[in-house]
Amino acid sequence: MSEAVLELRNIARHYREGLARLDILTDINLRICRGETVALIAPSGSGKSTLLHIAGLLERPDSGETLICGAPTSRMNDGERTRLRRSAIGFIYQFHHLLPEFSALENVALPQMIAGLGGAEARARAMELLDYLKLSARASHRPFELSGGEQQRVAIARAVANAPQLLLADEPTGNLDPRTADHVFETLMTLARNTGLAALIATHNLELAEKMDRRVTLRDGRIEEL
Ligand code: ADP
Ligand code: MG
Repeated sequence: MSEAVLELRNIARHYREGLARLDILTDINLRICRGETVALIAPSGSGKSTLLHIAGLLERPDSGETLICGAPTSRMNDGERTRLRRSAIGFIYQFHHLLPEFSALENVALPQMIAGLGGAEARARAMELLDYLKLSARASHRPFELSGGEQQRVAIARAVANAPQLLLADEPTGNLDPRTADHVFETLMTLARNTGLAALIATHNLELAEKMDRRVTLRDGRIEEL
């Protein structure tokens, strides 16, 4: 069995709402290997974002283990988790979360500089990525000067700027019109195929989900293959 890039073992997560206890994730088990693309299709409120945040080391589960490239993370401190997240994981949100006061190029270069790369090198690599995503003519534009699809493609470039092994995306095309969604999705898939990325993508778009290797859903806080 090839090593999983992401493995979730017996993950549980609940929230409290007043006196009520909401069991969102009860026993999540999921493995995603190198080069594998997995769609997460489940209704709103079923726990997709919670699951992605736990897989992305942005949130800790109540119990269970998240393994990134075989490394268990539950006993890591916050600094260790942050370092691992920055080097191994790219995250794409439904709303791009680009920094409004920076250009497209700077938005893609910044995470690399935070990871320790020099400015010139980071900018050169950012330009290469923007070029690859057919955005080089937009490099100096700030987010508000870009269309929704362009903003989301810049967010994709930013997510993969540090050459992560794992890409997590939370309804990345949920905010786009169908044609733009197709284009952004194709960009994501091409990138995953050409770089051997493992990807977990939450989406409501069944047509796009059909183009991925596997489809899973959440039922009663557990993963079910579709
Ligand atoms: P999805 O992404 O599938 O729409 P979420 O993971 O965002 O689902 O949320 C799952 C459930 O957990 C929802 O009912 C939501 O209201 C609840 N929830 C999410 N985050 C919190 C929180 N920080 N505190 C309390 N409840 C939360
Ligand atoms: Mg969500």
